[in-house]
Amino acid sequence: MMIRKLLAATAVAALAVGTAACGSSGSSTTAPKVDKAVKFEAGTTMDKLNKAQKITVGTKFDQPLFGQKNLKGDLVGFDVEIAKIVAAKLGVPADKITWVATPSKVREEVIEQGKVDFVVATYTINDKRKQRVGFAGPYYVAGQDIMVNKDDTSITGPDSLRDGVKKVCSVTGSTPAEKIKTFLKDPAKQLVLFDVYSKCADALKNKQVDAVTTDNVILLGLIDASGGKFKLIDQPFTQEPYGIGLKKGDDKFRAFINDTLEAAAKNGDYEKAWKATAGKVKPQAPKLPVLDRY
Ligand code: GLU
Repeated sequence: MMIRKLLAATAVAALAVGTAACGSSGSSTTAPKVDKAVKFEAGTTMDKLNKAQKITVGTKFDQPLFGQKNLKGDLVGFDVEIAKIVAAKLGVPADKITWVATPSKVREEVIEQGKVDFVVATYTINDKRKQRVGFAGPYYVAGQDIMVNKDDTSITGPDSLRDGVKKVCSVTGSTPAEKIKTFLKDPAKQLVLFDVYSKCADALKNKQVDAVTTDNVILLGLIDASGGKFKLIDQPFTQEPYGIGLKKGDDKFRAFINDTLEAAAKNGDYEKAWKATAGKVKPQAPKLPVLDRY
C-alpha cells in the first residue's frame, strides 16, 4: 500500500515537472542564465534597460527557425534566442521581453523612432543601413539562394531567371529583393514583392510565382514547414552577415552586445541556441563569425 502510494506520488511529481518543462520550453527554449547582480555605468542603455527590467525587441514572427510565433503564441527561433541571451546579460529575464514584429522594410524605422531597444531579425549588416542604424555582430553569415516547387527542374540558379518571363518573389526592403533585380530582364514584371516571406511561400505553392529568393536559412525554414513541397537550389550567391540592429551612435551598447556574443560563444549558450532552433535542419552549429567592431 505504502509503496503504491509512493509510486503514485512520484508519478504525479514527474508529471508536474514535465508540464513545467513543457510550459517554459515554448517561452524560453534554452533559458540563458540571468545575471541578477549585474551593474552598469549610469546613463548607458544597459543601465536604463537593467533598471527598467524590461526590453522591447524587434524580430520576425513568421520565419521558421529564426523568429516564428508558435501555436501557443510564443516566439521561437535562433534570433529569438540571441535576443534572450542579450537580455539575460542585461539582467532582464526572457519573460520581460516585449516582442514587436519587424518585417524587413520597417527595421531601420523602428530603431530610429525608438520603438524597440534592438532588432534581431535576419538583418544583414551593410553600409547603406549603417547610415541609419548601428550593428553589433555578425552572429551568423547566411547567403542568398532560391527556393522552387519540388517538381521544378527549370530553375538551377539566379541565371535561370534572365528569361524575362519567370516570376520570383521576395520581400520589400530586403537585400535579396535588390540583388535579384540584377539578374532579371524585366524586374517590373518578374519581381513580386510582399511584406513577409510567408506570403511568398504561399504564392509559390499556388504557382503564382516560379521561385522565392532570400537567405538560404530562411528558405530552409520555409521548406521544412512546407512538408516537402519546396526545395532549395542550394547555390548561395551572396554573403549576408546577420547583425543586431540598434540606435546609431550608441557605441557602448554595441560593444556590450558584441562582448555578450563572444561570451555566449565561449560558454556554450550560442551553440545551445542554434541546436534548439535552426539546428533542426542544420545540425552542425556554426562558429561565431569574427565580429565587425567598427
Ligand atoms: N538578410 C536579408 C536582409 O536583411 C534578407 C532577410 C530579411 O529580409 O530579413 O534584408
